[in-house]
Amino acid sequence: MKIALRSFLRVLCLLCGGYFLSASPSPPPIFGFTARSSSAERASERRFLKLPSADKARDAHAFLTSEPHVAGSPRDRALAEWMRDRWREAGLEQVDIVEHEVLLPYATDVEVELIAEKKRRWRASLKEDPIPGDPATSRDVGVPYHAYSASGEATAPVVYAGGGNPADYDWLAAQGIDIKGKIALVRYSVPYSYRGFKALTAERRGAAGVIIYSDPADDGAGKGKTFPDGPWGPESHIQRGGIVYDFLVPGDPLTPGWASVPGARRIATKDAISLPKIMSVPLSWKDARPILQALKGPQAPREWQGGGGFSYHVGGSDAAAVRMRVRMDDKVRPIWTVTGRISGTRHPDELVIVGNHRDAWVYGGVDPSSGTASMMELVRSLGALPRPKRTIVFANWDAEEFTLTSSTEWGEQHESDLAAHAVAYINVDSATSGPSFTASAVPSLNRLITEAAEAVIDPMTGRTIAAATRAAGPRVGSALPTAGGSDLVSNRLGSGSDYTVFLNFLGVPVIDMSFTGPYGVYHSIYDNHLWISKFGDPGFRYHAAMTRLWGVMALRLANADIVPFECAPYAKRIREFVDEMAARAPRDDQSALSRLVAAAERFSKAADAIDRAVDRELHSTAIDERRSQSLSRRLMQVERAFTDRAGLPGRPWYRHLIYAPRPTYAPEVLPGVAEALDAGDRARMAEQAGRVAAALERATGLLTAK
Ligand SMILES: [Zn+2]
Repeated sequence: MKIALRSFLRVLCLLCGGYFLSASPSPPPIFGFTARSSSAERASERRFLKLPSADKARDAHAFLTSEPHVAGSPRDRALAEWMRDRWREAGLEQVDIVEHEVLLPYATDVEVELIAEKKRRWRASLKEDPIPGDPATSRDVGVPYHAYSASGEATAPVVYAGGGNPADYDWLAAQGIDIKGKIALVRYSVPYSYRGFKALTAERRGAAGVIIYSDPADDGAGKGKTFPDGPWGPESHIQRGGIVYDFLVPGDPLTPGWASVPGARRIATKDAISLPKIMSVPLSWKDARPILQALKGPQAPREWQGGGGFSYHVGGSDAAAVRMRVRMDDKVRPIWTVTGRISGTRHPDELVIVGNHRDAWVYGGVDPSSGTASMMELVRSLGALPRPKRTIVFANWDAEEFTLTSSTEWGEQHESDLAAHAVAYINVDSATSGPSFTASAVPSLNRLITEAAEAVIDPMTGRTIAAATRAAGPRVGSALPTAGGSDLVSNRLGSGSDYTVFLNFLGVPVIDMSFTGPYGVYHSIYDNHLWISKFGDPGFRYHAAMTRLWGVMALRLANADIVPFECAPYAKRIREFVDEMAARAPRDDQSALSRLVAAAERFSKAADAIDRAVDRELHSTAIDERRSQSLSRRLMQVERAFTDRAGLPGRPWYRHLIYAPRPTYAPEVLPGVAEALDAGDRARMAEQAGRVAAALERATGLLTAK
């Protein structure tokens, strides 16, 4: 009976096309789908949404975090093999471990010794204290270090330089304190700024070395209760991390722009622009405190005072010197990307790519194992469904923590295939450190993300993720500065995770998302299974929610009749970016921007027109296969049109002309123009504005082509 009624309705739908459904109380069609295929999609999503399991995510997470698994280690390899086997069991095809050999130095020796007043010596422990009841914290996990620190040794007076930004050194210079030849002590900052920028700044100012420490005001006791009583960092927690200059070029520093496949050409280390020339060491608050307390000299400005409960001074004299020593082994090591796919039935050559990295600084409770556990559930759940129309490619990256390494090498290796066939890339690095949804993406994907967030339930409130996020109001204290975007999505993309090669090198539309919350144990031994179980996601329900969101987005991209990209929001955002440049440019330089302003206008008109054409096609009684494929193909190439093979001045690997990261990882829009404006270089500004205008004209040409 039920079946008979349903097929009767289906026939009726066929006869009446979209009109029948729009008259019924059923929800409006999903963007990218006709009314008819939209109801089929919703039916398959209902099936999908039941599959992700919080308990299974917990089990995967416990296993992934049971041992440290830094990139290139035996445990990292073992997890890659475990993952490969699970993916095969889940029914994925072409499951493989892809190996790249890359420069991946480990530290063999790190020492920091304070020499205060005559002969009094004190040595930093470089250890994190064990916590009763958390056996993971009582193991020896090796010496903490900054990846790609230079090797060396120096003994020099210490200068406290606040956040280690250029303005901080300017302030010191104004007090007559020269950093040259001295050791800079700077703090990790909130809001986030990439530690590599702190290293670069210290290097440029001529420091002999830099120490970056965690101040309790930023992520420790000054914020709230510390682990195991709360989510913040205990006084001995150490934030490891890369300091490589990947805002110049990410991936293997010795193969910039090409893949580290066997036999690949390698440049000399001295020619690698992404390698720091300065020594850098991370310190816990527990180890940094005695150094800060020993500093004399002028009192540090108010904004530099931290949560230590004493007055911070800037030092700079022989009264407090440090001997620091770093030895890196400078080895080339293998790293492993796990890939697999579910081949599409209709358009198998069109690729929707989903990715997460596997390597962790230690256990990687949040970063990245929460994302990896969500991905395992994604594979299991999508593997159980009928095949989509387009192919879904799954990638589990390695050495993200070093310099976005395996995603970059893989992207470079498959450049021509991806340029021709990639639809979009969805990145989940850390799936959850709390319940607040954050997403950044190119503006053409705002609608896809928003609709997916309306289709998935927020575990805590029982409302949709979209409703819960809107009710929570504007995000504060997120990891990277955000602005603009639709209400759920930031359209300011910087860097700091594996989407970079897709957006900035290949011109593939990207989404990066996470659930976030108070999190003070980043890259430390305390970022582990117990932390997640107590604070990040008790119950692992947000792990499963992330799997649902990720899966709904991937399915919609893979099944849509016309790829769900909306051009008008992109055009609107670009006009805003152009207006920002115009507001910054001196009056005499405005004419140099006029071609860009006109190109943005024309792109805007073309975007409106193609959005209308897509809408017409999706609402027509019978969708025309040839027309819809032509629309999809053109929409897929728009992002590519924003790239230019010559790249940005000084960093040719970064080819996208709308987006690039600043050295802090903060987003920069229209980077070529913005940097020329910063430099006060009128000729370069005009040239760069012309290149962006040409890119917009290419995109307009694509959209208006018949
Ligand atoms: Zn990560």
